[in-house]
Amino acid sequence: MNITEKIEILTEAAKFDLCGSFLCSKEAIQRKSTINGWIYPTTLPDGRTVRLLKILLSNDCIHNCYYCANRRDRAFPRISFTADEMVRLFLELRRRNLVDGLFLSSAVTKSPKHTMEQMLKVAEILREKHNFKGYIHLKILPESSLDYIETAIRYADRVSINLEAPRENYLKEIAPEKDLLALINKLEIIKRLSEKNIVPKSGITTQFVVGASKEKDVEILSLTYKLYQEYKLSRAYFSAFQPIPQTPLEDLRPTSTWREVRLYEADFLIRRYNFSINELIFDENGNLPLNEDPKTLWAKTHPQFFPIEINKATYEQLLRIPGIGPISAKKIIKARKEQKIRDIKDLKKLGIQVERCKNYILINGKSPSSEKQLSLL
Ligand code: SF4
Repeated sequence: MNITEKIEILTEAAKFDLCGSFLCSKEAIQRKSTINGWIYPTTLPDGRTVRLLKILLSNDCIHNCYYCANRRDRAFPRISFTADEMVRLFLELRRRNLVDGLFLSSAVTKSPKHTMEQMLKVAEILREKHNFKGYIHLKILPESSLDYIETAIRYADRVSINLEAPRENYLKEIAPEKDLLALINKLEIIKRLSEKNIVPKSGITTQFVVGASKEKDVEILSLTYKLYQEYKLSRAYFSAFQPIPQTPLEDLRPTSTWREVRLYEADFLIRRYNFSINELIFDENGNLPLNEDPKTLWAKTHPQFFPIEINKATYEQLLRIPGIGPISAKKIIKARKEQKIRDIKDLKKLGIQVERCKNYILINGKSPSSEKQLSLL
């Protein structure tokens, strides 16, 4: 098998690891590069956009997770790069100006220790021997020791520990060899390291497989909320389950991508809009309703909070209005320091989604939903 074929297989296999970076969605930003590999343009927390080579070191797994394409019992070509090969590949792509950074994950090949050592070796050679200063994201395997985690944090900008499910019983249903407490223990180790100022500068991420077991959205988001609060998690990613042939879950129905979308929206409310988990609205089964976004649903069920006077509202109040996010709220506050918002036209000039917010606001005491104001639209 030539190098290009190896790259294609191992980058394709890496698509199940969601980008540990801001604004990285699966379908929206994947694109084929000129070498037929998968390169992900990704915006980092500091606003920089980088092109990531997202790849597995190996797809040859000793584990047998029920949902996974790389599981031990599945028949397909098994491939591994050595650390040196991966470094050479990455440097060649850098030389051709095709990538800026590396997202390195791996199936557990031979042993967790061996796999983690190989991934760390890639990062070490890039940093120490080739003085690579760009972005590196490393996945931390569940069985990693304190030393390995510390080394990963020293070399990588961002690390990820994928929990996959919000409770032990759900995890056992889809990955009997994994242990949720052991995974959370890795986050505990990272928390302790942060007390010694050993911190991944672009944070820690995790990922959940959604819909492969009977987990509820409220359970996923409750754990996510706790991880943000207690472990300073940077981001959680939600991957709607898709059945893969020749796996024990091949006949399970795929999870609606709408469920994934609603989870991201709710997660956004927690991270960026100061919503607590108790403020999110779930249906009788503990899931987010699919027919309405969580913020609009909250607004509809809290009529006592509205309408909000746009010229007097605090930043936090503005954030509660459907159609107004952090950027819009800041624009409104900045604009009204110079001059009061007079009407819907002023809001439109600021780029506010007037159609979404007009039923929830007052402008100088008047509802923009009134006939007079609507005529200005
Ligand atoms: S550990 Fe499980 S999820 Fe990870 S590659 Fe192996 S089989 Fe797949």
